[in-house]
Amino acid sequence: MAKRTKQSSKRRTPNPKSRTPGAKSGKHVYFFGRGKADGNRHMKDLLGGKGSGLAEMTNAGLPVPPGFTISTEVCNIFYKQKGKIPSAIDAEIASNLKKLEQTAGATLGSTENPLLVSVRSGAKFSMPGMMDTILNLGLNDDAVEGLKGRTQNGRFAYDSYRRFIQMFGNVVLDIPKDAFEHELEAVKKARGAKLDTDLDESALGDLVARYKSVVKARAKRDFPQDPKEQLTMARDAVFRSWMNARAIEYRRIYDIPDDIGTAVNVQMMVFGNTGDRSATGVGFTRNPATGAKEFYGEFLINAQGEDVVAGIRTPQPIRELGGVMPKAYKQLREITTRLEKHYKDVQDFEFTIQDEQLYMLQTRSGKRTGHAAVVIATDLVAEKLVTPKEAILLVDPDALDQLLAPGFDPDEWKKIPVATKGLPASPGAASGQVVFTADQAVEWSNQGKQVILVRRETVPDDIHGMFVAQGILTATGGMTSHAAVVGRQMGKPSVVGAGDLEIDEGRRQFRVNGKTVKEGDYVSFNGLTGEVKIARVASTPSEILQVVDGALAPAKSDIYRRFDKLLSWADKFRTLGVYANADLPDQAALAYAFGARGIGLCRTEHMFFGEGRIPIVQRMILADTEADRRKALDELLPLQRDDFYGVFKAMRGCPVTIRTIDPPLHEFLPKREELMVDIAKLEATGKNGAELDEKRRLLHRVEQLHEFNPMLGHRGVRLGITYPEITEMQTRAIIEAACRVNREGVKVVPEIMIPLVGLEKELRDQKAIVDRVAAEAMKKEGITIKYLVGTMIEVPRGSLAAGEIAEDAEFFSFGTNDMTQLTFGYSRDDAGKFLKIYQERKILDKDPFASIDVEGVGALVRIGVERGRKTRPALKIGICGEHGGDAASIHFFHQAGLNYVSASPYRVPAARLAASQAALATRVGD
Ligand code: PEP
Ligand code: MG
Repeated sequence: MAKRTKQSSKRRTPNPKSRTPGAKSGKHVYFFGRGKADGNRHMKDLLGGKGSGLAEMTNAGLPVPPGFTISTEVCNIFYKQKGKIPSAIDAEIASNLKKLEQTAGATLGSTENPLLVSVRSGAKFSMPGMMDTILNLGLNDDAVEGLKGRTQNGRFAYDSYRRFIQMFGNVVLDIPKDAFEHELEAVKKARGAKLDTDLDESALGDLVARYKSVVKARAKRDFPQDPKEQLTMARDAVFRSWMNARAIEYRRIYDIPDDIGTAVNVQMMVFGNTGDRSATGVGFTRNPATGAKEFYGEFLINAQGEDVVAGIRTPQPIRELGGVMPKAYKQLREITTRLEKHYKDVQDFEFTIQDEQLYMLQTRSGKRTGHAAVVIATDLVAEKLVTPKEAILLVDPDALDQLLAPGFDPDEWKKIPVATKGLPASPGAASGQVVFTADQAVEWSNQGKQVILVRRETVPDDIHGMFVAQGILTATGGMTSHAAVVGRQMGKPSVVGAGDLEIDEGRRQFRVNGKTVKEGDYVSFNGLTGEVKIARVASTPSEILQVVDGALAPAKSDIYRRFDKLLSWADKFRTLGVYANADLPDQAALAYAFGARGIGLCRTEHMFFGEGRIPIVQRMILADTEADRRKALDELLPLQRDDFYGVFKAMRGCPVTIRTIDPPLHEFLPKREELMVDIAKLEATGKNGAELDEKRRLLHRVEQLHEFNPMLGHRGVRLGITYPEITEMQTRAIIEAACRVNREGVKVVPEIMIPLVGLEKELRDQKAIVDRVAAEAMKKEGITIKYLVGTMIEVPRGSLAAGEIAEDAEFFSFGTNDMTQLTFGYSRDDAGKFLKIYQERKILDKDPFASIDVEGVGALVRIGVERGRKTRPALKIGICGEHGGDAASIHFFHQAGLNYVSASPYRVPAARLAASQAALATRVGD
């Protein structure tokens, strides 16, 4: 089976058209409250996902606490002006604050009826847990008494105040959390309290005093008592958190641009922690792991929102809310069903119930696994909530990779006892060696090890470790905890809240069920069931792959049928063809089964590496005379012909593009150093036999063929020109195989492709050979077939001279791997060393070998297309570099007017989906 050649890469590029220029109107702050908002759902660029959702829900008359959103543009201004906000914007914020106070009927800092607000980040793309939030802002030594008076609950008032100082101290003043935790523990000890909730008003008052001393000692200033100063400081801290290390890392992984900024939402606080008639929770309108149509989520009684997502307390399933607060639950069901219909997509929502009164705090499209994405998209069509066209825009092409990921071999899995069970947060089979820190996960995976990151709970700082791990296993947290959300989005198998795990991070081990598991030991788990086992377990191909391979009947696989349906809808809208890069018949068959309707690149030299062929190829290379070379080529001919025949058959008459030999010949010979060692050994034995002669001859030829820059050396068309007999043999093999399948009734039109052409005359030289040999072969076979001769456009001169080259070329295929190498002057084989640093330093946003450089390489593609079609208007043009499987690049190729993209077989489904999204000019996430 073919290897996957392309890693999944999540890429979302902002759609510049959808930007709403707030700067033009001079407006930077958008109010929402009392059934009316300045913004709406179409203003995500400016208001962020959270701000636009709050505005939309307010406009729809839903119970949303009032507030205002400071736009993402202000974030950019903040950075441009080195942390300063112009006074005009400050004034706009002040007037919105006044309006908020009027709407809320409460005043910031009041001793009678104090207004408390939350200050929360919210970018266009959700970045769970990566940026900062401050709750209970507005409390000070006076207001806390006001809150006590209003709520008649002194404990609650002082608990809110101490939480605020702690959060503010940590987020705004950069004081480590431990400093506060230390005081909390001290007060608990002094009062003989076991839990935080055991502390009464006076204990919490004591804690407030201690926290204020911590602030004074650490920040060298008093805790700010002026609520307006608190607000300004909190706002700036949220803006600063846009550039914290974990947010930058998250954006790098998900290809979210750095310059879009975050909005800041200032919203009246409502409290889920006023007592047992209050609660807070998060949920989804459908199961985000499996896609099942079920109300899904969790809540905590008497808690604040952060308690749920932080994964510190394990919450209750949301359905149980119906038993505790039936009225609020019913209303929540009605509202969220309405939101799903309105947004025509699964919603991920946050809510708080204060004294049995429900408030909605957020709604947005729910992140989901690849599996869930396909299930939900197909279900929504069946329920007539969306059309097939809308459904294909609900699935990120990269997410399809998860559906092709392996699972455990069920027999192997059954043999091992279950050590424990956690919550099945993100599906997939994960097996690897246990590590306990994110840094170690990175270190070990750099050494080629497969690791499972085991944590008590994951914190956003773990993102780099989660990214490289095979899977994530945590002891605490619920399905919507950070580990679960991020794991699902990355398509990382995750099991969370496995409460039986007693993790001792210091000793780098955990105990479960009487067993001790040390760092480096193997564990495996199933992210769909939550089962964890202490062993290494072999995995099996995904259900979809089993169907594609013919091992499982489509009727037996619900997910395959959905996957197939979705892609067949996608095919209706796309105008780009999707071909595959495949060299051998089994790869071609897989590509066809995945929906490729053509081979865009068959690298014939890969056939030379087949079993028993290398010695023949070496003989061809070592030949001193043309006659000897032809002898070796005669031996290769039937082998190549059989391969071509197999590929033609597998593609059932679809176009097959076969490239003549491309790599430098020394790649087929042994390495110079190895030969020298062999020779030295043979010489040491004193035997001067035939073997030694042969090695010496080989070494001599290797030295003759040595090049300083082989990628720029004797390769591609240059080989065909210097060794025309190779082009002759390959042409003969192609035409004979094609005649054979044509005779069998499969009408194949082979496309013979000459690589690395930069000069019109190079192609003309090779075309003459192909035409002559093809005529001879057809005459011998007694049959005439149609074939095309074309070229790869992969050196910059090829694009520039495309007008002349198209005189001879009947098709073009852009080789964007070489084109990228030659446009940038970066060696394909060596660039990895510095490209990482280039990306870290933002000199390049992304790896140009993975996603097309639109400005540079893309410009050459456009020139090639324009000049080629000027000469030959109907010129067929494709692309067969690695970029053919990359969603963002596919959008570009669509716009550039290409006829098809050719991707590795496993990327074909993603390419079909991306091509149809490109035709609809929309990207998932925009
Ligand atoms: C290319 O250069 O883009 C290409 C497809 O050819 P290869 O990768 O074989 O050089
Ligand atoms: Mg190339």
